[in-house]
Amino acid sequence: MTSSRIPGFRDLTVEQRRQAVAEQAGLAVADLAALDPGGFSLEDAATMSENVVGAFSLPVGVAANLVVNGRDVLVPMVTEEASVVAAASNGARMARALGGFRTSSTGPLMQAQVQLVDVVDPLAARLRILEARDELVALADAQDPRLVEVGGGVRDLVVRVVDADGERYVVAHLVVDVRDAMGANAVNTMAEAVADRVAEIGGGRAVLRILTNKADLRLARARAVCDVQTLGGRRVVEDMVHAYKLAAADPYRAATHNKGIMNGVSAVVLATGNDTRAVEAGAHSHAISPEGRYTSLSTFEKDADDNLVATLELPMPVGLVGGATATHAGARAAVAMTGVRSAAELAELITAVGLAQNIAALRVLAGEGVQRGHMSLHAKNIAVAVGAGPDEVGPLVERLVAEKAFRHDRAEQVLAQIRGAR
Ligand code: NAD
Repeated sequence: MTSSRIPGFRDLTVEQRRQAVAEQAGLAVADLAALDPGGFSLEDAATMSENVVGAFSLPVGVAANLVVNGRDVLVPMVTEEASVVAAASNGARMARALGGFRTSSTGPLMQAQVQLVDVVDPLAARLRILEARDELVALADAQDPRLVEVGGGVRDLVVRVVDADGERYVVAHLVVDVRDAMGANAVNTMAEAVADRVAEIGGGRAVLRILTNKADLRLARARAVCDVQTLGGRRVVEDMVHAYKLAAADPYRAATHNKGIMNGVSAVVLATGNDTRAVEAGAHSHAISPEGRYTSLSTFEKDADDNLVATLELPMPVGLVGGATATHAGARAAVAMTGVRSAAELAELITAVGLAQNIAALRVLAGEGVQRGHMSLHAKNIAVAVGAGPDEVGPLVERLVAEKAFRHDRAEQVLAQIRGAR
């Protein structure tokens, strides 16, 4: 990657943009052909899901300006929502002046749970299971020799006693290093394989044997410092911190604040063929404070020079092997565009995009508000929805924006006027 700054990027045609992305990412234009609407065949679709009757297309946008750990990255984003890609590029630009995003992550540790019911002595059963740690770890590892071969495998056994509605369940967790996989299938197979033995040792009956999406041992983190002048001065920084503090204190604000982060996160997760629901479930479970309150996933502070310091930490169970990441050609092209080499690197990139998105949203909210930029983009959707042709969309959008009228009825009237005048 030479640079993620592509001047005039948004004014190019789709073909020109693809050319520019290929050039910057060191790819051939043909490497991005899988991103064509026809790049995903009905045969591919039929093998990926069930009862298939078609394939559904969404736009692939590319966010520019992002720097992660000193490396420029172009970010593929799949979303139906206007303004997400522009906002990610904006947030990335705001962080760029002071070096962009710094990231880190834990190891790729996923956990699977085995639930035991009807245990007479749950506290002693817990210790009996822990005493059999080596045997259970070996049994689980034997299910996935390939994973062990690439350096992964079971790292730990944790056993909890969970009180639930008058019951005492013994819940064993296999903690598994899944390397470059998302890991759900890998750890589910292990949990099913050890369940009977865990039940035998614990003296109960195994019911659930499945991963937890609360992937709190697989965290990715991003941090950025945004220059106070680039943001528009001290008052803007202070208001962005006020916006964050409300999210930290108030679940009504936190839900929207975190949704903004997920705008960026889910778009890259989807573009790279990963499981959006797994990442979303993990993120929202991570948004619960130690006191049990739903809160902000990110933090915002002012540093000694009045610059804005933003951080984000969240579970990021994404992979480069397995699932659709391996089988969807478009996902493979998207990953190639980013140049990431490991699941950990992808996880950190996605977290940086989530934070860029969050910075851009708070900057707009603390300033002019979202509607101006949002609605200009939305006006395009309205124009298409009321039937404007390719040469009518431009003038119609211009009129709707000038009038601040983002309604279908008004769009129909203006479109009729445009047609009448021709
Ligand atoms: P997978 O089983 O297809 O592939 C992972 C396997 O690839 C590993 O078990 C390993 O044997 C092999 N492998 C080869 N090289 C590897 C490397 N470098 N690193 C790691 N593994 C390597 O996929 P998965 O990641 O175990 O499961 C992901 C799929 O499971 C997704 O499609 C997801 O949607 C789905 N899923 C999710 C849930 C959930 O989130 N609750 C539940 C079930 C299934």
